[in-house]
Amino acid sequence: MLNAIFSTLTFKTNRYLSGVFLLIGTGFLFIGIFFAIFMAISFFKKSQNQLLKSDLKLSYNKNVNNPLILQAKISSIYSLTGTSYSGLVSTYIVWILHITDITSIDLIISFTLTFLLEIMTAVLILPRIDLFRETRPGEIRIIKLHDFRGGITAGVLTLSRHSPFKSIIFVGDEDDSITRTIEAHELGHATEHHPIFLEPSIIFLLSIIEPLIWFVGFGNIMNREVISIFLVIKTVLIILSVVIAILLFVRVAESRADAFAYKVIGKSAYENLVEALRRAYGENIKSPEDAPLVSKIFHTSSRNAIKTGDPLSSIGIWEFPVVLSFIASTIAIIPFNSIGIIYPLLFVGTLVISFLIGLVSLPIVRKYYRMTERGSLNFSFLLAGIYMISSIIALDAYPNLYLVISLLLIGIILAFIITRAFLDLRNSTKVVVASLLIYLSINILISLIKILPHGG
Ligand SMILES: [Zn+2]
Repeated sequence: MLNAIFSTLTFKTNRYLSGVFLLIGTGFLFIGIFFAIFMAISFFKKSQNQLLKSDLKLSYNKNVNNPLILQAKISSIYSLTGTSYSGLVSTYIVWILHITDITSIDLIISFTLTFLLEIMTAVLILPRIDLFRETRPGEIRIIKLHDFRGGITAGVLTLSRHSPFKSIIFVGDEDDSITRTIEAHELGHATEHHPIFLEPSIIFLLSIIEPLIWFVGFGNIMNREVISIFLVIKTVLIILSVVIAILLFVRVAESRADAFAYKVIGKSAYENLVEALRRAYGENIKSPEDAPLVSKIFHTSSRNAIKTGDPLSSIGIWEFPVVLSFIASTIAIIPFNSIGIIYPLLFVGTLVISFLIGLVSLPIVRKYYRMTERGSLNFSFLLAGIYMISSIIALDAYPNLYLVISLLLIGIILAFIITRAFLDLRNSTKVVVASLLIYLSINILISLIKILPHGG
């Protein structure tokens, strides 16, 4: 989307650059289609839980260090390839193209190239390392470890006709209800492919951080080029937005895995979870709130989802508005020439708007969401935030009306895909149509209030 905007914007001033953007945009479009197919497959699979059982494979392994070794290998591949790719790209821009004044376009080209190279490497290398090598595409492999107290799910994208996913679950080898609850939670992660959604997100984050570090390093240490502090601040804001978006995704994914465990295990799931936390962190744990901070940051502190079965019941009511408003104001600030006071104003403005729109749509969302009150409110805030971000992106494309309309359509499709992860097809359609109508009528109302006094 952004590349299409940049392509149109640069078409008059620089034909060559416009072509480059169009090419990069097409690349992203294909990756987008790729992921749309993945999502379709994962939804299809979810509705056929019985089929999934045939893909499960159990194996026993005594080595407790296995998951740690696997994670360490994946992280070192990420950092090693990421650093070298971004280093190569920035060296090319500075030493071969002899660009001395780094602009936002140089940054975007570096981010994009680093991202494409890293995602290609991840898809080609990760499915071939360590335990993933022995895992078939489409298989969820469960490895039982002796004296292992927690549960870990690892997953990677792979190029295969059979399935684009490979997943491994690590759990303890004891045969009791506590281990079964942990296993059910991890199965929730694996069947919904949470680690696989995380893979491109983390690569995306790294592809923004690494080129920025290279450029700042080149400029300051080697005096090879200049990068304005303003551009650095904007990029840091984008990095922060991606970080908090990933964190919120992880918290929702953990809550979805908890809700999945509740559906499999039933009412005893919550007590089993508290016992599992006690085994991992000590006898003084009475409720999930007593767990260490790291656990609470990623898993939420209440873990209500495993008690209620509602995946959005453990998320705090301020989380969606704050995170989505931060992203919205970061996107809105990109075309501006200063940040100063505008950024906090934009943030507060979008926060208030998303809160209000979420509250107004609540009665309709509640009617279809039919879970806990907290869950309905969060779901309403989530939808409000997505509409707000879509309209801010679409606004950047103005006055190209075709682009504005296509961007809005993409926003609606995105809202529908996210809704579909929580509701069935009929209710998703109803919720998206109803909340969209509310959002549009509020916008029309605001425009009328703004226009009428001038017209009269
Ligand atoms: Zn989990």
